[in-house]
Amino acid sequence: MTPPNPRRTKGAQPPEPSTVSDRLRARIRAAGRRFHANDSIAEFIEGDVELAELETEVAKRMQHVLEALVIDTESDHNTTGTARRVARMFLHEVFRGRYHPMPRVTEFPNAERLNELMIVGPITVRSACSHHLVPIIGKLWIGVLPSEQSKLVGLSKYSRIADWVMSRPQIQEEAVMQLADLLETRLRPEGLAIVLEADHFCMQWRGVKDESHMTNSIMRGAFLANEALRREFLQLVRS
Ligand SMILES: [Zn+2]
Repeated sequence: MTPPNPRRTKGAQPPEPSTVSDRLRARIRAAGRRFHANDSIAEFIEGDVELAELETEVAKRMQHVLEALVIDTESDHNTTGTARRVARMFLHEVFRGRYHPMPRVTEFPNAERLNELMIVGPITVRSACSHHLVPIIGKLWIGVLPSEQSKLVGLSKYSRIADWVMSRPQIQEEAVMQLADLLETRLRPEGLAIVLEADHFCMQWRGVKDESHMTNSIMRGAFLANEALRREFLQLVRS
């Protein structure tokens, strides 16, 4: 059990009703789980009603951010609905991979005993950096070497799974790792390879002179052990 918040129990005042984000944090902590920016917390949200409540809380707090930025949201017609729009965009669009469950993906057995290298890509990736909440846009390739015991999914499902992982505030290296872990658990392939090339708008937009283009790769199983396979994958990605 989480100890009561001292701010809330001080004095004779009755405790404030907790906000929906307070409730979610308490639930996640009670389960001993993390809620970093790139973690999914969807399983802790009780249905659409609670998600709608969370949207209202985010909109309210976003309104406070606009006020702190001294933007007149009352007379400026462009920003009147901005707090609500941003809340909706965060929860249901750009960060939906935190608040909405993973899309349904049906795995099927490798009945044809496929054992050839499969490459999916380029998949367009849209994410945002955890540091600035500014877009990361890139291209992703996934290489899978199935074994007879592997599970398979339809080709279009790879991009849906990738999209779910990327639709969170992310760090490119961690995003690639999360995606690899997820695909390995679901598919149990003989080998798995991922390459992600992305542009970081926090570099371009903020005018930081650092390199804004970044490439990450991850090789697992057969792709680590077999250099020819790794080379074949990287060559196909480049071409
Ligand atoms: Zn950044």
